[in-house]
Formats: sequence, structure tokens, C-alpha cells
Amino acid sequence: MPPLLGAIADDFTGATDLAGMLVKNGMRSAQMIGVPAHTPPEGLDAIVVALKTRTTPAKDAVDASLAALAWLREAGCRQFIFKYCSTFDSTSKGNIGPVADALMAALGTDFSIACPAFPANGRTIFRGYLFVGDVLLNECGMQNHPLTPMTDANLVRVLQPQSKHKVGLVRQESVSQGAVEIQRAFADVRQKGVGIAIVDAVSNADLTEIGYACRDLPLVTGGSGLAIGLAANFRAQGLLPAEGGAGRLPHVDGHAAVVSGSCSLATQRQVAALKSVAPAFQIDPRQLAAGNDVVSEAVEWAVPRLAAGPPLIYATADAEQVRAIQQELGAERAGALVENALAAIARRLVDSGVRRLIVAGGETSGAVAGALGVTGLRIGEEIDPGVPWTVTMNHPALALALKSGNFGTDDFFLKAWSRLP
Ligand code: ADP
Repeated sequence: MPPLLGAIADDFTGATDLAGMLVKNGMRSAQMIGVPAHTPPEGLDAIVVALKTRTTPAKDAVDASLAALAWLREAGCRQFIFKYCSTFDSTSKGNIGPVADALMAALGTDFSIACPAFPANGRTIFRGYLFVGDVLLNECGMQNHPLTPMTDANLVRVLQPQSKHKVGLVRQESVSQGAVEIQRAFADVRQKGVGIAIVDAVSNADLTEIGYACRDLPLVTGGSGLAIGLAANFRAQGLLPAEGGAGRLPHVDGHAAVVSGSCSLATQRQVAALKSVAPAFQIDPRQLAAGNDVVSEAVEWAVPRLAAGPPLIYATADAEQVRAIQQELGAERAGALVENALAAIARRLVDSGVRRLIVAGGETSGAVAGALGVTGLRIGEEIDPGVPWTVTMNHPALALALKSGNFGTDDFFLKAWSRLP
């Protein structure tokens, strides 16, 4: 059986988020890092291709997304989702509109939806306005985002200048009445020339009905919340087994370690909690800038300790320390130095027999996955919301938990080991 759903995600952690949601909703899922050169793995209900197109020039985002679509079509997927952030991160130039337009054209369809709602995470859409928690999108901090400042919460207005299609709205009044009424609203806006409809959604029940209503649409676009409805629709059609187990992963044996490059508050607490019970090695960006071989030092420190349990190697620092380093070295240089060092350390730990690794930090995870040559990940059960265990598809198989900044409880680095596949 070929996979049912093919997903194109505009960033790495967003892809993991969607794949995790699909697993949670009963679909066996994998995340590919970039468009694979090989044929798709077997035994999957959904494949998510992770791109890095959120803030690239629109043409590059379109080309990469079309390449991902072609690969997913070749894999036999029957429905497609273009996944972007639930805060609709984009500018008047894109990339949500241009990519959605291009995917629609490639699939020969003149209608799709845009629905970034994720009620469980506080993202709801009402009258086309996106709320984050109790405030509008443009009041939640996103108005100050360095790359994609969101200064308008009205998604019809935000998407219109990005798309060649007319953008319309399907209101909550229709959505709350269920799939039949949503389909009637689709027909209604289509008659008025709408090519992409923003769809209101304030609850998981809304998302489920939206999933049923989209059963004949080749493409939907939105956040990972849509996974709820898409999976429910496949299940209603008898295409998914009723029982669980979608997150079952092969067992991975070997040494374990924790590598942390995130300076988020949650990670600071997690590092403190682990440091109190496990050996820890701190990476000093100044030493890296001075050209010292900190990588070898860290690896030589860690390897003799592996047999006793997972050691911690971290660059995590508080805001004041990070500011001081950034002033000295420049934010970009400091970030790159630390990311490259942690990635090289992870690589050498794996060469020394580590097979189970927790990595903290979104950018850090990307760098580590690159250094480990990871091409794809099978997605397992969640350790904490948004952070599943994964197993790499390349050899040797590694169990990886890639945790973006603010995710996870304070004891995350401790409890994750008891939930290993
Ligand atoms: P998060 O998911 O918390 O945002 P990221 O890994 O995406 O974490 O980003 C953290 C960034 O901070 C990375 O570029 C990392 O290299 C950098 N960094 C980590 N530790 C330090 C430090 N002590 N000083 C300066 N920059 C650091």
C-alpha cells in the first residue's frame, strides 16, 4: 500500500511537529530531510518532506516545494498538505501564497484551503482573524519577528497579496455545522471565484469536520492541527487501522548522550536538572573563537564516561551570558561556532558507539542531523508535546530526540530515557 498523505513542510521542526501529530492520530509517519534521492520507505501512511523554505526567496521555495511534490506523487500519495507555521509566518512576497499557487497548478486544482489553526496550542481562527491564545496574531509578539513580522491578524488580507488566486473565507458558522455545510460553503466561495479559502476553526471538532470536508481536495494548506482532520477522514474511509501502534519504532541499543545548544528558558532548566545528577561538559564559545580544539576535548572527556550513563555536553547559557558572547563575537558567528562544534561532537560520539542521542535546540538539531548524515526519521511516540523519539532510516540506526527550544518539562533529559523505543 502506498502512503496516503504526502506533506511538504517549510521548516525542519515544523515537519517534526506535523509528523508527530500524524502519528498521534494513528498514521505511521516518517520525516525526510530534504527531497530524497532514493525511493520512499515502505510501511508508511504519511511522509513529510522537511524543506527550509520559510524565508528563502519565493522562487527557491517554489522550486523546492515542486520537487518535493513530484517525489511524493511518485511515492503514490493520494492527498497532499503544504505545512507552514501556525502563526502563518510569511511576508507580502511569500512564501505561503507562491508555494500554494505552484502546488495547486502542479496538481491541476483551482481550489484549496489555508487553515493554520491549532486549538490545542492556542491558535484559533475566527472570521478569518488568527488568534494566539487570547490575543490577535499581531499582538502576540509576532509583530516583532525579525524575518516574518506579522502585523495583521486578518489572514484573508495577509494571503491575498501573496497569491494569484482570489482569497476568501469560510466562516465558523458554516464550520460548526459540520462537513456537509463546510462543503456547501466551499462551493459557494468557489462560485464567487475564490481559489484559496481561509477556514475558521476554534476546536479539534472543527478540524475533524474540515478534514472530512476536504476529502476530495488534492491539496490542503495549514498548520499541523490539520493532521487531526486528515487522519480522521482516512480512518472514516477505512484506509487506516482502528488500533494504535502508529508510533512503534525499532529498538536501538548503544550508548546515550545529551547535546544542548539551546539557550531557551526551558532548556536552561533542563540542563540544570541534568547537571545535578550527571557529568556535564560546558562548551565555551570564546575557546572556539580562539581556535582551541574544544571538540576533541569534549569527546575525550565524554567517551570514558559513556558506560556509566548519558553525559551532557552543553553550550546552553542564560540571556546575559549569551548577550556578552554575542557582543564579543557577533550573534551569527557565535551561533555558527557553537552549532558546528556540537554537530562535530555528536558525529564523533556516534563514531564512539553512541546510538541514543537527545539534542536540544532547533538550529542545533538541524546542524547535528546534517553532521550525522540523517536522510530520514521514523517518528515515534511523544516524550512531551511536540517532541517524539525518532529512529533514523540510515545506518547505523540511531534513536534521536530533537527538542526545539521551549519544549519539554524540566526533567525532560531524565525522563526521555524511560520512553525510548
Ligand atoms: P532554540 O530552539 O532554543 O532556539 P537553537 O539551537 O535553534 O535553539 O538556537 C540557539 C542558538 O544559540 C544556536 O545558534 C546556538 O549555536 C547558539 N548558542 C548556544 N549557546 C550559545 C552561547 N553560549 N553563546 C552564544 N550563542 C549560543
